[in-house]
Amino acid sequence: MTTTLGAPPLDVLLEDIVRYHRPRKETGAVPRNIPFLAKVPFDRFGIAVATTTGDVFCSGDADVPFSIQSISKVFTLAMALQGGGSPRLWSRVLREPSGTAFNSLVQLEAEHGIPRNPFINAGALVVTDHLMEQTPDAAAHLLRFLTEQAGQQARTGKQGQPGPFIDEAAAAGELAGSSRNLALAHFLKDFGNLTRPAESVVENYVRQCSIMMTCTELAKAGLFLANDGQGASGTVLPPSEAKRVGSIMLTCGMYDAAGEFAYRVGLPGKSGVGGGILVIVPGQCAICVWSPRLDAKGNSLAGTAALADLSDRTGWSVF
Ligand code: GLN
Repeated sequence: MTTTLGAPPLDVLLEDIVRYHRPRKETGAVPRNIPFLAKVPFDRFGIAVATTTGDVFCSGDADVPFSIQSISKVFTLAMALQGGGSPRLWSRVLREPSGTAFNSLVQLEAEHGIPRNPFINAGALVVTDHLMEQTPDAAAHLLRFLTEQAGQQARTGKQGQPGPFIDEAAAAGELAGSSRNLALAHFLKDFGNLTRPAESVVENYVRQCSIMMTCTELAKAGLFLANDGQGASGTVLPPSEAKRVGSIMLTCGMYDAAGEFAYRVGLPGKSGVGGGILVIVPGQCAICVWSPRLDAKGNSLAGTAALADLSDRTGWSVF
């Protein structure tokens, strides 16, 4: 593991990051349309690093499951790109930064139902529709994928058992407040860019977002993106496709804060409104940080600050 000359060993560094960045003041917001997220204690903070050499370093609440929310969009895109499914998908969704909020309706209307990228909600709904053509329960398929990559057994939501699970109650709570995602899905349908009924695509998408995982599990699950597409049990994607997913993370992974995140952290990342951020250091490691409070763009406040600090102190930026 290459870090800047003179930097402390990674486990010491991560302890230090947790001590410094675990939020002590109640700053930042949580999304108002997802009741489950309002209940998470604001001072939770975890970080995990999974390396391409097979080590895992972690600190803080790295083994407490949290709601992965939009981090799911990286993995559903990877699944959609498996088996050469890309030309059809890329005729339905672009690969440009949106410069608008993740759930914005305006751009979708102006651009005739073709979402700017797969990491905003409209784009992820198209990816979900694409996946549902092969596997109607795309969320269950995603759960199996994540469980395999994280190297864990799936669990049913019981406390204390390792492995990702779908929090169905949280999903039901989010679905009840999903007017905006339903509006996006109906727009897509009206423009002929959704095959399935809008309601069933949104329902499945919300269940993907409600998958609970720990920082350690997410770092391990995302490692194939830092490792030329090689995952826990073989090839997930060819190296060229893994590279492209990383590129889209860099340009679109933090919505309308992608430029600021690239400036501060200098690494491809994907955030979720559960407060998690997954980051890739190509060839070296995958990092997952989690802290629930968000900035105005929906990205973890303390998580982004911690990653900026970590990238400065390790020299891991791609720039
Ligand atoms: N489930 C959330 C939504 O659709 C995901 C958004 C996010 O994490 N940015 O609004």
